[in-house]
Amino acid sequence: MSSPEEQANLGRALDFLRRWDRGDGPVRVRLLRSFLNRNARKTFYELEVDLAQTASLLLARITVWMRVSFTAEGFLALQLKALGIFLSASNHDQYLMEFLQGGGVVILLDVLSSSQVQNDDKTEALRLLLNISDAGRKYKEFICEHNGVEILSDCMVGSDGGDAAGALLESLSHGNPKYQDQIYRSLIGLLTRVRPRAQLLLLQTLRSVQLKLGPAHDGIVAPLLNTLRSLHLDVQDEACNLIRDLMGDGVRVKLLSGLVALLKPVEEETREPEVTGSLAVFVQQAAAATAIRSLAEEDEEISRELLSLGVVPNLLYALGNQEHGEAQIQASLALEHFVRSDPSVGAHVRRVMGSQLFAAFTHSKADTLHMKMDKRQAEVLLSNHLHIDPGRCKQRAWREKRILFWSQKMSRLRLTSIKGKKLLSEAEETKTSTRKRRKTAVEGEEAPKASPSSYHSFCDPAEVVQLRRKLLSWYDREKRELPWRTLAVTEADVNIRTYAVWVSEVMLQQTQVATVTDYYNRWMKRWPTVQHLAAATLQEVNQMWAGLGYYSRGKRLHEGAQKVVSELKGQMPHTVDDLLKELPGVGRYTAAAVASIALGQVAGVVDGNVTRVLCRLRAIGADSTSPAANQALWGLANVLVDSERPGDFNQAMMELGARVCTPKGPLCSRCPVRAHCRSHQKVQVQQEQNTKKLLGRTDRSVSEVLDVEDCMRGGTCPLCPLEPWDDSLGVQNFPRKPVKKAPRAERTLTCVVVRPGEQDDHEFLLTQRPNKGLLAGLWEFPSLLLQDGDSDAERRRALCHQISRTLNADVSDGLLRHVGEVVHVFSHIHQTYVVYSARLKRSDARVQAENTQWLTRSALQGAAVSTGLKKILKLYESRAGLEESPKEEKPSKNAERVKTSKKSRAAAAMGRARQLPLNSFFKTLKEESGS
Ligand code: SF4
Ligand code: ZN
Repeated sequence: MSSPEEQANLGRALDFLRRWDRGDGPVRVRLLRSFLNRNARKTFYELEVDLAQTASLLLARITVWMRVSFTAEGFLALQLKALGIFLSASNHDQYLMEFLQGGGVVILLDVLSSSQVQNDDKTEALRLLLNISDAGRKYKEFICEHNGVEILSDCMVGSDGGDAAGALLESLSHGNPKYQDQIYRSLIGLLTRVRPRAQLLLLQTLRSVQLKLGPAHDGIVAPLLNTLRSLHLDVQDEACNLIRDLMGDGVRVKLLSGLVALLKPVEEETREPEVTGSLAVFVQQAAAATAIRSLAEEDEEISRELLSLGVVPNLLYALGNQEHGEAQIQASLALEHFVRSDPSVGAHVRRVMGSQLFAAFTHSKADTLHMKMDKRQAEVLLSNHLHIDPGRCKQRAWREKRILFWSQKMSRLRLTSIKGKKLLSEAEETKTSTRKRRKTAVEGEEAPKASPSSYHSFCDPAEVVQLRRKLLSWYDREKRELPWRTLAVTEADVNIRTYAVWVSEVMLQQTQVATVTDYYNRWMKRWPTVQHLAAATLQEVNQMWAGLGYYSRGKRLHEGAQKVVSELKGQMPHTVDDLLKELPGVGRYTAAAVASIALGQVAGVVDGNVTRVLCRLRAIGADSTSPAANQALWGLANVLVDSERPGDFNQAMMELGARVCTPKGPLCSRCPVRAHCRSHQKVQVQQEQNTKKLLGRTDRSVSEVLDVEDCMRGGTCPLCPLEPWDDSLGVQNFPRKPVKKAPRAERTLTCVVVRPGEQDDHEFLLTQRPNKGLLAGLWEFPSLLLQDGDSDAERRRALCHQISRTLNADVSDGLLRHVGEVVHVFSHIHQTYVVYSARLKRSDARVQAENTQWLTRSALQGAAVSTGLKKILKLYESRAGLEESPKEEKPSKNAERVKTSKKSRAAAAMGRARQLPLNSFFKTLKEESGS
């Protein structure tokens, strides 16, 4: 029987469908609008609950309606948005399949091909397709089979949607190898056809596809070199990156020769019409010189190979090109490299330049040489016929050697991206059982074919790029607006920004965002700069921190602020190392987090959330606190962190861990990086295997069993789990936590000492804890640690002795009343407070020692006290009616009412008509997990 809520949902949905079926276009538009209004902000769980009953029917109707009406004005945007809701629901795999079967993907492709559809709608359609493509290989194949690559190529050439189309092409390129080649050729073909922005994207996509594809096509050389004509430096840079990637490929010589040739354009080309003041061919000449210098400086062998290809005479030619200053500068800088790396080259260059120009070249900055050159000298350079004998470089031998080296390097890179199917196939071929592999590895007879690092790390640069892109775009869409994030972006003063992020990071250690936000806002309002905090007292800080737990954090912030003001002239440290060195309590995580978020430094972070995400992404099952795992996690974090947006990337990882990759119930189906997650892949494979077993299909072909890599090190791997995979845990098999030590049990005697106040109230005796250790600096009732075996009489005596010493008065143990016990659990201590109370006359309690104070009930509320004390007070107040009034001298009116009811007795015992409600005082009372 369904719940009333489910029945109501069903009723609503059926009514919706009835109206839909009877309605015309405008009616359906209204229905869709209300559907969007109702569901746009719902969580995935809510959507599932609401949609589960009728989702398929509704999805089919929208799809069919879109097919017949997508060119009609005004409907398509709504239809696409509504589809977006289905395709983003957490069980969207099911919806995706239904959408596919209903022809939805083909319709989206038709939308992209239509000249009647607006660009915004096309972009939305591309986003949906990207979502579909990211859901798995079978979806990618479907898009490719339906002419997707060609349609997307046209989108990239078109006026809009280029970014989304490029992202989708990149996503498709990670599917079936059958289509990779088609995508690769399309991308090459597009290189010379698209606008600069799309060109950049294309080059990035090409780099990623190239790594997976293996040997490059010769056809890539000309279009790639042609992109060096771009006036956009980021396009030129990316082209250089791709050229660099291809240095291990068969096209290496062609590329290097091509670059050298570009330094000396043929005469007809130099008569091209001007492009924004520069001839495109000269822009390309300068870019070629830049690329040559960069390649030669990075690799000595490439440097020599370029020499043998005649780079020096052509650089001299470019240096003489007084038509284009940038070409002269870049040529001069490149030439400087070759002259420095080989003195005999210097001698040749000197002969061509003449001693005067050569002296200027060697004695001043190379990039200003062109300003010292006259026309005659330039002409000499342009007409040089320098020939450097390549034989001296033994170029043939080293060229072959280097090509071999680079080929091997590229093969290694590609190997890391080959799927586990191949690895398994190799393993199956050798008929080596897991046990034998482990034994072999232990005995060191033969190294395993896949190193553990490739399984537990990110070796494929293209994969890293994709993961960053996906995670950051998810973060841009989904991130929570938090006060410290706003400050990190809007605060222009780097000192305040660093301080603000530091405070947030310290507060967030061991404490939830929801709890921290309120504390953070109050803190920053009171102490908006490090100078303000430094001027506060520790007591004020403790007071502000009360209830947040782990009290030493507040104290350290305060100490740090004072140090910054007194020793660092008020300047917050500005690097990871300085943050670590200068600020007390700042460890590796906090330093990297502050430096990346506030200062934009490229440093990865590893906290609890990131640990969980990384362990799952790379199937790290060893104890996550072990040295090997710790080192691996920091290594991964530093490889993954985005160099353009390090702070956002780190926050995105943490956000993912907090909201999607949660400790329990991770939402893998809505995870933006699930395509890169080994745990998720493992779960899918296991499910597939289990289904096959259930169906009695025992023909385990290799391709059916594994589509993911597995760590081939087995029992010898320091990062693999010791325990076997547990199906019931799914991705929660990772990470493995260390066995927690049981908290040690302690018993503490404590006494609520009360005296009549000056007015019609009570005062409580409080003493301050030492400035170090548990609850450092906080106020508490007089307490002492209980020793095992103490009798009740001994306890009372010890407690009375302590109170007497504090007050310098004689407190007899006859005054003590046993109130009860309170348990409070810290992270490492299971504390039981044995609570007594004592009511003193005011005349007996006049003396106040150091670190002691009498506080009224209302003053106590705002004092720096721990949650444990609040619990004790709560117990005391609940029992207060059992005790006598302390107002022997002047019984209060409230005391008269003591006898009337238990509730009013408690209030009367407090003797204060103005007392705040207990609920208000204890509203922050919750289990505190630390000191
Ligand atoms: Fe975590 Fe699942 Fe995402 Fe993997 S797919 S990172 S386990 S949420
Ligand atoms: Zn392993």
